Amino acid sequence: MLLATVTGDVALRIEAQDDSKTLDEVMQVLRNMYGDGIPNATGTMNSKWSQNPYVVGSWSDPVVGTDHNAHTYMASRIKNLFFGGEAAHGHWYGFMQGAYYSGLERANQIASLIQRENCEANQGPILSECVISQVPQRNGCGRPSYRP
Ligand SMILES: Cc1cc2nc3c(=O)[nH]c(=O)nc-3n(C[C@H](O)[C@H](O)[C@H](O)COP(=O)(O)OP(=O)(O)OC[C@H]3O[C@@H](n4cnc5c(N)ncnc54)[C@H](O)[C@@H]3O)c2cc1C
Repeated sequence: MLLATVTGDVALRIEAQDDSKTLDEVMQVLRNMYGDGIPNATGTMNSKWSQNPYVVGSWSDPVVGTDHNAHTYMASRIKNLFFGGEAAHGHWYGFMQGAYYSGLERANQIASLIQRENCEANQGPILSECVISQVPQRNGCGRPSYRP
């Protein structure tokens, strides 16, 4: 069994064309390498990640000129809407561990906010709104220093 990976524009072209055409192209490459005498492949299986509506691609990959903070920006939240996944990790984007660490970070952020609301509710006035533009690292209850 042979496995080939294609990227960028070539990947999109391959996805769009008939699998038999792709097999012809692959066999041409192999014959250039090993000679005309090699047999035809008996089958082919092509992933079409960009056409899967639940995937729409494979992993995030910055193009030339991308701000190196782009993946960190992807992790910015909008009010109480949080973003996780490999694309939202500033260091390990593109990898499983990026998805994993990003998930842990978002979960910690959310847990910290819930904990803070509970702490404040137990300590006196219940604040209806969380100031969650930045989440401090805390071990227990107590008002974060940036709160007014
Ligand atoms: C071919 C291939 C090989 C790879 N090889 C490696 C490797 O060797 N090592 C490595 O570290 N990483 C590898 N990766 C990358 C790794 O798989 C990804 O970085 C990782 O899976 C990203 O995880 P994620 O949770 O961010 O996103 P995903 O795993 O893409 O999860 C997103 C989920 O959201 C779901 N979803 C999307 N839209 C909706 C919607 N509207 N409603 C509900 N659900 C939705 C999707 O179905 C999917 O289950 C590879 C990826 C591919 C495609």
